[in-house]
Amino acid sequence: MIFGIDLGTTNSSIGIFDGQNRTVRLADHLDRVLIPSAVAETKQGEIVVGQTAIDIITVDHKMGARFFKRSIGTDSKFPVGSQNFDAVELSALVLQKLKDVAASFFNEAVKDVVISVPAYFNNIQRTATIAAAKSAGLNAIRLINEPTAAALAYSLQETESDAHIVVLDIGGGTFDISILEKFDDVMEIHASGGDNFLGGEDFTLVLLELIVSKFQLQKLSQENYGLIYKFAEKLKHNLNAQDEIEDVLTIGSEQKTITVSRQEFENAAKPLIERIQTPIMRTLRDANLKKGDITHVVLVGGASRMWFFKKLATSIFGLLPSTHIDPDIVVTHGAAMQAILVGENRSLIDKVMTDVSPFTLGVSVARQINDSHYEEGIFSPIIQRNQTIPLSRVETYSPIHDRQENMELEIYQGESMKVANNLKLGKISIPIEKKPATEEQIHVRFTYDISGVLEVEATVESTGQIFRELLNKNLDTTELDDINARFEKLANLKRHPKDQEENLALILKAERLYEEHIDYRDILVNVIDEFKRALATQEPEAVERARSILTEQLRLIEET
Ligand code: AMP
Repeated sequence: MIFGIDLGTTNSSIGIFDGQNRTVRLADHLDRVLIPSAVAETKQGEIVVGQTAIDIITVDHKMGARFFKRSIGTDSKFPVGSQNFDAVELSALVLQKLKDVAASFFNEAVKDVVISVPAYFNNIQRTATIAAAKSAGLNAIRLINEPTAAALAYSLQETESDAHIVVLDIGGGTFDISILEKFDDVMEIHASGGDNFLGGEDFTLVLLELIVSKFQLQKLSQENYGLIYKFAEKLKHNLNAQDEIEDVLTIGSEQKTITVSRQEFENAAKPLIERIQTPIMRTLRDANLKKGDITHVVLVGGASRMWFFKKLATSIFGLLPSTHIDPDIVVTHGAAMQAILVGENRSLIDKVMTDVSPFTLGVSVARQINDSHYEEGIFSPIIQRNQTIPLSRVETYSPIHDRQENMELEIYQGESMKVANNLKLGKISIPIEKKPATEEQIHVRFTYDISGVLEVEATVESTGQIFRELLNKNLDTTELDDINARFEKLANLKRHPKDQEENLALILKAERLYEEHIDYRDILVNVIDEFKRALATQEPEAVERARSILTEQLRLIEET
């Protein structure tokens, strides 16, 4: 079984194909399919994930972390109450939660997953996502770009053949755009792009600042940031349906009546709205298409519900966007479809679906200015952006100096001529024989796999020696220890309310069955007592054992 996961900035969810051409998103015991991507610490020092974490953060934002997906692949630390986590660890906790949700539906272990990532995620962010999955005990067999997943969900089901579809995906923290073509049964991504630092949260912050300055709440906002944020978030949603909103903000004993109009919000958000247009135009250019060539506009992500986003999409393309698949679920849907296709017929899906490299990838070289002068740090692209992946390209380089003993191959991602402006992905040090520079060559091969992860291979011409590096900042040998350490750290965390909530739900279910089935009352009393005794020990293994006995017993009774 392979599950599809949408690991979102704001919410995450897990789904599976049910075999009848339908994706089932799995809900937790409270029937919630969207699990907030939030982690918090309770007063008792226990780690909680999801809605419970949001509830804690709303009261005291120092007790938890959200929006950490934006920092995945960086060294940033997030304080969560008395503890500190990085974004990989926090993402791993969310993934663990999703794994638990899925595990409650099936009797087999949840292991293989397809995870969606923003198309604009760079190599480091992608490998960090894979590391988070590993830390959660999951095997990410494939990453799929979020807009690609959305397009997959739409195009296989919804559109006729020969369509040019643009997918605009604006979630909590990122904005992605993909342009694809569907012809016969083939779907080809022509180009993708986006802005990694632009999402619904930025709009909430704009509204928050508007409220704070309009109603002079500067003093109040320092202490009550979480509350005002939540208020702004609610207002942002409600403004989709009303021209002006009046609402009461209650902070302790203080009450403030707040009125904000759509126009005020739209004006304040103008710089953000303008920023959305730049990557759209760039991606159209990369795809060699004009606005008029687009036949379908698909909106994805919670923030695409904002009225001015729809207005912008309509005015750019002169088309009303298709919105009939819930933008919250479409990515999970696509990831689960991809999961079934990868699992059952890899060659089929690779033919049906092509994706592109979102960035240019290359190495740092020196350019000779005159006999003795070199300009260093020049970017030499090997794979240009928006090439169909998987793909492999080779370029050949020579040492600068005679009798050089080493060549430092520095690998970069980005679009600037100067490497200083691009993102460094890694470095390989290649020993070479001392020779005249003109007699040595290094062939550098870049291979970009279907998940958008890069492998670099350098072959020394004179010796035939090969140096290979998977540019997994988080997955190379030294950092594998990190993953194991992370895995241990997460396994040893004191986790609880998931269990408590889940356990409570299980007890409630058992009590309901007790009311319904007179014949099984004795058995039920026994297993419920057994379960409560196990809970009292607070020993995870004992709880787990008792939980599975009770679950199995309830299943048997339900089947009678
Ligand atoms: P996602 O990561 O796709 O779940 O998107 C989450 C973002 O969508 C958050 O910034 C939400 O505030 C925003 N969002 C969700 N629903 C709405 C809505 N009805 N109106 C405006 N923004 C929304």
